[in-house]
Amino acid sequence: MKITPNQFAWIFLIVLIGLIGWGGYAAWNFFQNPGENLVSMENEVKLGEMITQQIMHEHGEDAMVQDAYADSCIHAIYERLQSAMGGSGYHYNIRLLKGDEPNAFAIPGGNVFVYTGLIKFCHTPEEVTAVLAHEMGHVEKRHTINNIIKQMGVGALLSYLGDGSGGAAQQLSEKMINGFFSREDEAEADDFALALLERAHIRPSVLGEVFSRMKDEHGDMEGVMSLLSTHPELEQRSAKSKAYQTKADFIEMPIHMDWTRLQQLWP
Ligand SMILES: [Zn+2]
Repeated sequence: MKITPNQFAWIFLIVLIGLIGWGGYAAWNFFQNPGENLVSMENEVKLGEMITQQIMHEHGEDAMVQDAYADSCIHAIYERLQSAMGGSGYHYNIRLLKGDEPNAFAIPGGNVFVYTGLIKFCHTPEEVTAVLAHEMGHVEKRHTINNIIKQMGVGALLSYLGDGSGGAAQQLSEKMINGFFSREDEAEADDFALALLERAHIRPSVLGEVFSRMKDEHGDMEGVMSLLSTHPELEQRSAKSKAYQTKADFIEMPIHMDWTRLQQLWP
């Protein structure tokens, strides 16, 4: 079969439209997920270490909880989630920080900080697990690194990684403690948490229960805690968690620990 010039023009046009569409999609994807495309895991881990140092510096030398029982409880909670998650590109570091706020936050490189105030606020180990699952959602979906690049620009970030100069770490740590994620990020981290909790044999609606109580008791702290940062959408997020339907064969399994003993470690 011989292709006429007219047919050739059509084929050319169709291929051209396809290429433009593909290029547009690639560019869109690139700018939506700059962290994945521009910052290697090695650099993300390095950035996480720098911000961790800044957080420890700001909270003071003895801010980190050093207690074998508390460590074993956090480990048991993390273990449950990790085995339900299967593989992860991250090596997680969950640190317990002394602080009254019922808050937890994630920074790049698989680092999650939990305040002792959150342990005291939660009624059960499963409630802390639900919050931790949400924070791990921010890590797995690379929200932390993507947002840093969107705010700082990749050039500033890379030069910061190079020499650690400027007040960048201070600014970044502040943002992460107080919450800087979009509604979409929060929704994505919630979806991740709900599915993970189900696989981990923890009732997913527990997440919604924590959110509701947090809003009732600490709604006035809005804007100073990452967990409350999306108020007033917190109500919707809570409703969605409570409405989550588990599979018919879902079995709930409590995480065993002496919860009162853990809560009483801090006066
Ligand atoms: Zn969040």
